[in-house]
Amino acid sequence: MDTQLLERAHAMLNAARNIVILTHMSPDGDAMGSSLGMKHAMGTNAYVVVPNAFPDFLAWMPGADKITVYEKDPEKANALLEAADTIICTDFNEPKRIGALGQKMLDIIASKGDAVNVLIIDHHIMVTERTLPDTVNVVKIIDSASPSASQMVYEVIQYGKQKVKNLDFATCIYTGMMTDTGNFAFNSNYPELYRIVAELVDAGVDKDAVYNRVFNAWSEGRMRLVGYCLDRKMRIFPERHASLIYLSGRELYRFNFKSGDAEGIVNMPLSIKDINYSCLMREDKVTEAEKPLANGSKKKIKISMRSQGDRPVNIFCHDIFSGGGHKNASGGEYYGALEDAVKLFLDNYEKYFKAD
Ligand code: 5GP
Ligand code: MN
Repeated sequence: MDTQLLERAHAMLNAARNIVILTHMSPDGDAMGSSLGMKHAMGTNAYVVVPNAFPDFLAWMPGADKITVYEKDPEKANALLEAADTIICTDFNEPKRIGALGQKMLDIIASKGDAVNVLIIDHHIMVTERTLPDTVNVVKIIDSASPSASQMVYEVIQYGKQKVKNLDFATCIYTGMMTDTGNFAFNSNYPELYRIVAELVDAGVDKDAVYNRVFNAWSEGRMRLVGYCLDRKMRIFPERHASLIYLSGRELYRFNFKSGDAEGIVNMPLSIKDINYSCLMREDKVTEAEKPLANGSKKKIKISMRSQGDRPVNIFCHDIFSGGGHKNASGGEYYGALEDAVKLFLDNYEKYFKAD
């Protein structure tokens, strides 16, 4: 990490009195870990605000019970933002990734001017025109080579300090590091990662308990949904070593779908020998907050993609589904009918996917 940026980040954090920490839409373990970890590092005047609900299997995380969900309580979220002198964004760098909350954040920054500082800590690729411009009030610590935003929060907070002591902080950071690497199964060839894990366990993190809480907490519906996807819904395209699963709102309803239940399904087809690309689409309702983006459509299709090796899926997601992400894990959105999103996939995958 750039020491000048770290110095500026620390100056900002030391001056902060009222802090709002934001993280991305449909928060995953790393979004929750990085934002809550930051909160535990900063103390009582730091509030986490998320755009929409987080999954039940992360509700045990220390501090999760005090999170403000923008979709459920916009007044409270707005009041917190209006009172903030410091906004910290973790695990995202584009205001668009937090929906209507992003517009609110931009309005606050525009109206407050120098009275608000912004710190962004993220491991997604930064697209200059989609993120915040560089100013004296904006510090961006963005490293797309880092395995998790939680690890980056740890590195920022620990910079120049002694070992971590706060167990809630350590537990949140560990959770994000564990989930964004699939329990250290991918993006995990970094010696430094294990040095940090050692420090976190030293600080008292019960890593086996965290694993159980996150990975062994499925509902029956979620387990049956996975079975249904793999048996009935998975289409294979052998000539491009690709797989596609798509789920309508009606199918999700049948399995009592809850936020987070689709987590991990997109990775599963990659376990098949010779399958190198996987795509999962699911239909969702357009929320009030998303209406400005939806061009009148009532349906939103959430697209998730994964790949192996030197087979980027972020370019496909960017070009076809106005999304993006990492080389091997990306996503996008399509406002319209599920059939049309599927057709877009079918019409374009051969052009983007390698035959070998
Ligand atoms: P997931 O499939 O877990 O929802 O997302 C995987 C990764 O894809 C995320 O970490 C993020 O980098 C990227 N991603 C997912 N959805 C979108 C999207 O709508 N827009 C962009 N730019 N990236 C996305
Ligand atoms: Mn992440």
